[in-house]
Amino acid sequence: MDARATHRHDGLAARNSLIAGSRTLAMKERALSLRRGGVDVIDLTSGELAVEPMGAVRDGAREAISRGPAASTSTLGLFDLRREIAALVTARTGIGWSADEIGLTAGAKQALFNLISVMVDPGDEVIIPQPYWTSFPDQVVIAGGKPVFVATAHRNFRLDATDVAAAITPATRVVLVNSPNNPTGAVCDPETLVAFGRLAADRNIWIILDEVYGDYVFPPHRRDYPFARAPQMRARLVLVNSFSKSLALPGWRLGYFAAPPAVVGAVEALQSHVTSNPNAVAQYGVLAGLRAGLSAYQQGILQDLATRRAFGLDLMSSLPGVRTITPEGGFFLYADISDLVGRRLAGRAVATSDDLAELLLEHAGVVVIPGSAFGDDAGMRISMCVEDAAFRTGLVRLTDALRSVGGQAQSRAGRVDCPEPSDAGAT
Ligand code: PLP
Repeated sequence: MDARATHRHDGLAARNSLIAGSRTLAMKERALSLRRGGVDVIDLTSGELAVEPMGAVRDGAREAISRGPAASTSTLGLFDLRREIAALVTARTGIGWSADEIGLTAGAKQALFNLISVMVDPGDEVIIPQPYWTSFPDQVVIAGGKPVFVATAHRNFRLDATDVAAAITPATRVVLVNSPNNPTGAVCDPETLVAFGRLAADRNIWIILDEVYGDYVFPPHRRDYPFARAPQMRARLVLVNSFSKSLALPGWRLGYFAAPPAVVGAVEALQSHVTSNPNAVAQYGVLAGLRAGLSAYQQGILQDLATRRAFGLDLMSSLPGVRTITPEGGFFLYADISDLVGRRLAGRAVATSDDLAELLLEHAGVVVIPGSAFGDDAGMRISMCVEDAAFRTGLVRLTDALRSVGGQAQSRAGRVDCPEPSDAGAT
């Protein structure tokens, strides 16, 4: 596409034409406006936990405010907090990380944006497993890079190292892995990580492991860091995490990354010109939370998610034409709806995941995210971080509506992996 031709006349930069607006947020907005008009709508789109923040976090933030002067912190955050996070990552991964390998950012979104900006030159390729979190491709495109998608649907949404290896070219700079995956809930298995570690070292590629949902993995699944089997991975791996998810603080905008010092230094220089330090009050709150210990708080959230997961899977399993993936972690149920493509709901044809989402909104009063937002036009994402009663009512309405889908599927080839970056801004 000739972006320059599109945008020169309005005085804005050519790159604007490469950044898509958010259809998912538009969907959410429509639901809100229906609700304002008195229509009973249940929102199953959220990527934000509907729970109170930890008491210790709130107290820490309150104390920081009442202490007085509201000074900035170092660009990459309070040293004490970086040290605390380094200890957390060390305990989790089984290998040592120090404070100067940690950087704090305005959410994981900024960590990812900064990392891609410092790693990707124009024309470089970034491998992104599909379905993907909606901002990945757009961030790569903004950096001038080229997203290269690796499909996982044909492997029951499991990421396969041989598929990734086949997609690597001399232009590949980064493999961007999200585990547990948003939207599918798949956890990357250790064998795949071992293979990535070797590939990364052999081909001089970065692996960014976005593990923002990593604290919410359903037993017996678990996240594994096979550094013992792939020690060369350490020098090429960057971990990304978020207190939006791990401490249910999405509005406080605090995330972090753990990376080799050269990467941390490059991000620090970039961030010093963009946002400077992330919100200081949020940092003090999270520091107090980490010192108090997170496990009891997170255990409660995991338990609630597991209960909703069991309820949702049970209901969805009885649906003809819908194959719901059992999430191994994260906040979402993801369903393969390719068998519904070509059928009819309430007299209207279902040709795409967008059609299905639209019909579910109109006829069942539930809002879901269509798979197209994740580069998979035969999927549907249902949030499990909705308050219990709403989740249950929403699921019942949704499954009742889907049971009424009539007619024969036109083809089994309903699955389309969308080639283009689609949607910015959704969670
Ligand atoms: N990575 C993934 C996979 C996500 O789903 C999200 C948000 O939903 C983010 C990163 C960004 O999170 P944050 O709120 O920390 O910016």
